[in-house]
Amino acid sequence: MDTRPFENERTLAAHRENGSLDEFHRSYADAVASVESELGASHSLWIDGRWVETDETYTVTSPADENLEIGRFAAGGSDEVDRAVAAASDAFDEWRGTHWRERAEMFRRAAEVMRERKFELAATLTLENGKNRAEAMADVDEGIDFLRFYARELERNDGYEYDTGEPTPGQHCTNALEPFGVFAVVGPFNFPFAIFCGMLSGALLTGNTAVAKPASATPLIAHRAVEILVEAGVPDGVVNLVTGSGRAVGQPLVEHEDVAGAVFTGSRTVGRSIRRTFFDLEKSGPVIAELGGKNPVIVTANADLEKAVSGVRNGAFGYSGQKCSATSRVYVDERVIEAFTDRLVDATEELVIDRPRAEDAFVSPLIDDDALDRYVEICEAAREVGTIRTGGRVVAGGDGSGGSGAEDRTGDLSAGRFVEPTVVTGVPHDHELARDEHFVPFVTVHPVSGLDEAITKANDSSYGLCAGLFSEDEAEIDAWFERIESGMCYVNREQSATTGALVQAQPFGGWKASGTTSKFAGGYWYLPQFLREQSRTVVG
Ligand code: NAP
Repeated sequence: MDTRPFENERTLAAHRENGSLDEFHRSYADAVASVESELGASHSLWIDGRWVETDETYTVTSPADENLEIGRFAAGGSDEVDRAVAAASDAFDEWRGTHWRERAEMFRRAAEVMRERKFELAATLTLENGKNRAEAMADVDEGIDFLRFYARELERNDGYEYDTGEPTPGQHCTNALEPFGVFAVVGPFNFPFAIFCGMLSGALLTGNTAVAKPASATPLIAHRAVEILVEAGVPDGVVNLVTGSGRAVGQPLVEHEDVAGAVFTGSRTVGRSIRRTFFDLEKSGPVIAELGGKNPVIVTANADLEKAVSGVRNGAFGYSGQKCSATSRVYVDERVIEAFTDRLVDATEELVIDRPRAEDAFVSPLIDDDALDRYVEICEAAREVGTIRTGGRVVAGGDGSGGSGAEDRTGDLSAGRFVEPTVVTGVPHDHELARDEHFVPFVTVHPVSGLDEAITKANDSSYGLCAGLFSEDEAEIDAWFERIESGMCYVNREQSATTGALVQAQPFGGWKASGTTSKFAGGYWYLPQFLREQSRTVVG
């Protein structure tokens, strides 16, 4: 067993610390060119250790450039779901009987392959879902971390089997955590490697088998992840990949009578529908769902405003706000709100909007036209009820209603979906702009009279995923920790107020409507959720 302290992959930070940033960027550019040269291929489903074609296919293009075809993907349906679930059911007995040490070894091998291929994987993300270099590499690093950390956890807990003693002479008791069977693994577009790998490894390491359905927008990186698991030795039928839409694949999958459990990351609406399905069908297995957020940050009169500005800007606009953990509402003490907002506006205007493959790109494209429409709608609403202090314009995409001057900052983005990061003031705290998750680069700033009002307003939300505080006052920090209703809590985090959790050190999950589970991804209690307890007694 690996007894060294867990170390996170920190690819970009390590290059920075070693003075080898140039090498990082060279390798990245080479990887993008190499992955790009192989785009446009057709991809089938992976069922029972075989490639399976479908009559229907769909084409994925890059959000940064609609002329860049990522590939053509099999559009699965309920027939393919049936085949995949049958394969996973057939494979279950042997897989659950495979010693946990062997499973852990397999996933560690897979993590090694991912490490060797990290630039290629990150470049795939840049092209497929539009992450800039730093964000894409962090996504890959996190996926590797999940595999390594969960493999360690399985070993650290001796496969979750405990000797519970001899309560009376001759009665030998053990307590075992056993897998459920076939898991549906349904992933989001925004962390299509890390979260996909995390959920899939959680299900498989614990002895369940899986049918995985990635987001429609990001099937290529899911193919890469599954290929690597197969290369590392995960047997036929244990992992199956069915691409296609939520309605055609996701729904029949979670409804399937032989699917025992579901692990899902995505919107609250879909998460809720999966829970309802499990309830209606009287399935006893778990729905492990990580859902949305409306993440508040508080800036008190005792804050270091430079830190607060940097933390809020990066938290709100990293990957263009398309993160469940994105900072989306900021409550600022009225004594410092003017200075804070002016500086936030200036800092936001410095952000570089460029194609994600560019070395200095910060702002990423929006994933699809729905997101673009949502951005236009909420900016219109913000103009009606408040003041857009910066942003509010489409740079490229949709009907081409980009604002004047945007091109000066951006270069040629015309074939992508790019919008400006947007800071808004004057929106009532209870308005839907400050209440609902929008998943675009949009943050509202609200004045408060002090910390008490700020915490009350921060907690006045059905969500409870991430929260941030900027204050140099220890009493304020203590009071905030005591009262804030949030799974993830960060104080004075300059690099990002609410995003960027690291596996093991900062287990990730939400309270309230942000999730169905109180056991967090990348934490010590994640794996047992995929298991059910069995008490065993042998007499004699
Ligand atoms: P989404 O629209 O809910 O989609 C998530 C997945 O569910 C996709 O694979 C989707 O397929 C599938 N799906 C859609 N309808 C379905 C149905 N009826 N039955 C089963 N599956 C169905 O979410 P998204 O747009 O990909 O991701 C954004 C959301 O995820 C945000 O709300 C964000 O906050 C949340 N998120 C949460 C976390 C967290 O850890 N808490 C992390 C990341 C993201 P299609 O792609 O084909 O529609």
